[in-house]
Amino acid sequence: MTHRIEMEGGGVFDVSADEDTLLRGALRAGVGFPHDCSVGGCGSCRFDLVSGEMETLWPEAPGLSERDRRRGKRLACQSRPRGDCTIRVRPADEYRPAVPPRRREAVLLRRTPVTADMAEFVFSTLEPADFVAGQYGLFQPPGVPGVRAYSMSNLPNAAGEWRFVVRRVPGGAGSNAMFDALQIGTVVTLDGPYGHAHFRAEIDRDVVLIAGGSGIGPIVSIARGALAADPARRITVFEGARTRADLSFRTLLGDDFSDAITYLPVLSAEPEGSDWAGARGFVHAEVDRVLADRFEACEFYFAGPPPMIEALQELLIIQRTVPVSRIHYDRFF
Ligand SMILES: Cc1cc2nc3c(=O)[nH]c(=O)nc-3n(C[C@H](O)[C@H](O)[C@H](O)COP(=O)(O)OP(=O)(O)OC[C@H]3O[C@@H](n4cnc5c(N)ncnc54)[C@H](O)[C@@H]3O)c2cc1C
Repeated sequence: MTHRIEMEGGGVFDVSADEDTLLRGALRAGVGFPHDCSVGGCGSCRFDLVSGEMETLWPEAPGLSERDRRRGKRLACQSRPRGDCTIRVRPADEYRPAVPPRRREAVLLRRTPVTADMAEFVFSTLEPADFVAGQYGLFQPPGVPGVRAYSMSNLPNAAGEWRFVVRRVPGGAGSNAMFDALQIGTVVTLDGPYGHAHFRAEIDRDVVLIAGGSGIGPIVSIARGALAADPARRITVFEGARTRADLSFRTLLGDDFSDAITYLPVLSAEPEGSDWAGARGFVHAEVDRVLADRFEACEFYFAGPPPMIEALQELLIIQRTVPVSRIHYDRFF
């Protein structure tokens, strides 16, 4: 059974009455519904309900401000239609899914430690792993309300292998359930792919990749994608981490590391007495120092915690006047 959603100003799509949120249903139908995180954090999927009934899954979701709530705004990623509805939203081509997302059963094959608090999860599906480098999937961690987004760290493949680098967040319900409640061999629902901060192979500029913490997963995927698209393309990777022991890019890329990659780790909390000879401080400051007069020649991809994303937006868009069309990022709420 489906519910019919009409968009004021033109366009209709159907949302499965089953488990789909308004956002997921729209994207499955190929509608360019504005969105970023899909998990209630960013507010990009705000819309107005004109008529009909919708259930709100997470009323306290931080993606809506108090002012939004007063004005009756809703988040499509937290709204589930209860019947046919009419909504007000402005779809845009840039949000149209590169690959239509869908649910599939995935079995957890292995979980390999990468650092003290991050592990690589490898899942397998019967169908090909169909996504673009840099996208993410949605999981329902066992026993936890809401879904969590995790970004693929490998490349699309016919064998149906999906890799994710997950950080165990202290006190975090979802990430701890991914580590503790998912046994090897467990079958889960993997919904995806989602996200538009994916690699653009057709753009011929130097590729600059910036990761903070567990943002390394999609950055490894895009580095692999850029190497596969053109092994001679100039790729610069900045990895921001607290200490040397938290770095993971070289481990994750393994034998695929190539001379085309300039790898620049930046540590924010490495003990003063250590023999670390690389950069210290925040990763955005190092990006500014290293790229100096090369900003014009680059396409930027970055992923990580919201403060890092905000610092990079300020640097790239305001200080260095990089056009927003050359900047692709995921905030890890
Ligand atoms: C696009 C994207 C890609 C990401 N990729 C990765 C990745 O590759 N690796 C990685 O380690 N992390 C990634 N994250 C972060 C990850 O999704 C989780 O936020 C992180 O694991 C912490 O989750 P937690 O449940 O442990 O922490 P918590 O603090 O318990 O929850 C964090 C998030 O869960 C959601 N949430 C919390 N409570 C509810 C609720 N009641 N109902 C609905 N939702 C709720 C919210 O989005 C919240 O920000 C990504 C996030 C986004 C948005």
